[in-house]
Amino acid sequence: MRLVMKFGGSSIASREGFKQACAIVEGHRKKGDLVAVVVSALGDTTDRLVEACDKAAGGDRKSVEAFLNSLQAEHMETCSWIAEEDARRKAEEAISAMIGELKEVLMGVAYIAEITPRVRDYVLSFGERLSAPLFKAALESEGLKSEWFTGKDAGIVTDSNFGNAKPLVELTLHQVKLRVGKPYSEGVIPVVSGFIGADQKGRITTLGRGGSDLTASLLGAALDADEVWLWTDVNGIMTADPKVEPSAKTISQLSYQEAMEMTFFGAKGIHPKAVEVAMDRGLPLRVKNTFNPEGPHTLITREAGVKTGFTAKAVSLIREVALITVGGAGLAGAPEVAAELFQILSEKRTNILMISQGSSEANISFAVSRDPVDELVSLLEMRLLGGKTVRQIDVEEDVCIVALVGAGMKGTPGIAARVFKAVAAEGVNIRMIAQGSSELNISFVVKREDGPKAVKALHREFKLGESS
Ligand code: ASP
Ligand code: MG
Repeated sequence: MRLVMKFGGSSIASREGFKQACAIVEGHRKKGDLVAVVVSALGDTTDRLVEACDKAAGGDRKSVEAFLNSLQAEHMETCSWIAEEDARRKAEEAISAMIGELKEVLMGVAYIAEITPRVRDYVLSFGERLSAPLFKAALESEGLKSEWFTGKDAGIVTDSNFGNAKPLVELTLHQVKLRVGKPYSEGVIPVVSGFIGADQKGRITTLGRGGSDLTASLLGAALDADEVWLWTDVNGIMTADPKVEPSAKTISQLSYQEAMEMTFFGAKGIHPKAVEVAMDRGLPLRVKNTFNPEGPHTLITREAGVKTGFTAKAVSLIREVALITVGGAGLAGAPEVAAELFQILSEKRTNILMISQGSSEANISFAVSRDPVDELVSLLEMRLLGGKTVRQIDVEEDVCIVALVGAGMKGTPGIAARVFKAVAAEGVNIRMIAQGSSELNISFVVKREDGPKAVKALHREFKLGESS
């Protein structure tokens, strides 16, 4: 089989995980499969690089230095189990050189106490740049042939939207095939840094958080892989978060559409663009558990594989949400206000999770992720209030979104009634409702403390634990 395997940060956070990931690749390669590997940064390295950027931009050199020391120590520690000396030494050298480079960048930032999106991406790229040579060395130590690539060297070309760059897909596929295709076909294992690419001027970009999945899909498409396997630390995609609903089970089969619907809602799932790239080519994706490789997992293809009698497949909970309502009687028949509103949202690069307008048109409500909300709200107030049309802007920060997803809901009457009845029976008040016209999901906003209750109620009502 021609395979691309991506190992997420949680898979390779510990030494055991790292070993296990290498053993999986080794097993398949020795069986005769061709394998290309995409690696994330170890554990929560990316989060900590984000933090280091902020510290540096605040001029805090002490924290930056302490961070660099621990980063170096952790990567060296992961290195230390690599048995073969030559391979280990090369990995150690690569790590030291990169940490040195990172230090110069962060100290530069600390010196001028300012950071640009471009420099931030450059800093964030180090997580994946560090893990790739490590993985390569570990494979070599087991007697396998391997070569490592940064996203840029592998041929991932993007636009220049630093922080959330979009791959130029056709160009990327062409480049990746050219650069990675040959070693891959010859049985060498390419190890590619996930999450990062470069724009057409050669400047390093990142593909948005969780972007290693996208790197994997792009590689799969470019290398004509039979399948792309996304390795994580749970048994595939679950019917609900097992921390909220302990009876949650692995969903054995999902369609691309269902998977996208789930990831749009921030379910700890797959990068939506990764699903899109796979869908365009009918490339099967599997989500598997590094620590339980033979255990249950999720297959994502064109087929939804809906079991008769089961309409929904999963219920997800998105916690960090704010609900903003822009209101005023004058809003009815004033399309320029909606236009201005969306203009502001786009300027602030706001990720809108849900949106609704009542038919009275007297208010527009939308749910956004909670982090940049203060700045957004003051901008909305400055630009929209003061005229006659918009009277008030309300913000509720203690809410969450519950989303029920499943291809079987499409065209099945009575689903909404069941949803709202089940939730009402728990005494939960619904603040806002939306259903995409795809009919693959119904989502609604409730108070934060009611979220888990609503999830449990829907898991029970739609028998999600038995649907797979
Ligand atoms: N390391 C990056 C992140 O944490 C990309 C990834 O893991 O997919 O978002
Ligand atoms: Mg991920």
